[in-house]
Amino acid sequence: MSPTTGGLKDLHLLHERLHKKQSELEAGPRKIALREGICKKKLAEIAEQKNCIKNIQKAADDKNLQFRTNEQKINELKGKLNAAASNREFDIFKGQIEADSAANAVLEDEYLELLEQVDAAREKNKILEGELEVATRLAKEIAIEVKAAEAGLQVAIDELAKEVSAAEICIPSKFGDDYRRLVQAYGPGAIAVADETACTECFTELSPQHQLELRVGKVIRCRMCGRLLYSDDAEE
Ligand SMILES: [Zn+2]
Repeated sequence: MSPTTGGLKDLHLLHERLHKKQSELEAGPRKIALREGICKKKLAEIAEQKNCIKNIQKAADDKNLQFRTNEQKINELKGKLNAAASNREFDIFKGQIEADSAANAVLEDEYLELLEQVDAAREKNKILEGELEVATRLAKEIAIEVKAAEAGLQVAIDELAKEVSAAEICIPSKFGDDYRRLVQAYGPGAIAVADETACTECFTELSPQHQLELRVGKVIRCRMCGRLLYSDDAEE
């Protein structure tokens, strides 16, 4: 393999390694933000659940108050019943007591039902609190992990950037500007391997002249996508 295409292949690999490290570094803050987002969502769910508990509890308290008020009314009616002046009065009070007692039995059932709902809502809140705890722990762990990896990644990136710079010597000067533009646009995709007859990025066929140049180890540009091409099987 000629030093030129060998160099281009090396440069391609270096670009790929550099790109991988840069992607890892950029992914760090996104990972943290994702975990923090989960915590925020869980906090909002808990706030909503607490509000729900408050509302059911208030409905239960109202129901209880209604029940007690009714109970007092029934007691008063019982007093009146005992002091009834006639059979007719007695029957009226008795009828009212029966009706109010039936209504109160319903109120009591409704009250107990609401208390059960409060318990269930509190249970659900406990589960949410547990989920928040896990989410918070994971967010902290990810943040520590990302922070710990950052310095090492930056060193690797700086090192690889230097190696890329040094390896760029293989770029023919006539392709220099194009190469820089391509790297800006495609990163490691600025360079591609060609099989014997086509660019492996856009699958455009190579002209016979280009095929010949590739075989003797020259760097060429794909006429369709413009990428710099090298051959893995170039002659020495
Ligand atoms: Zn191409």
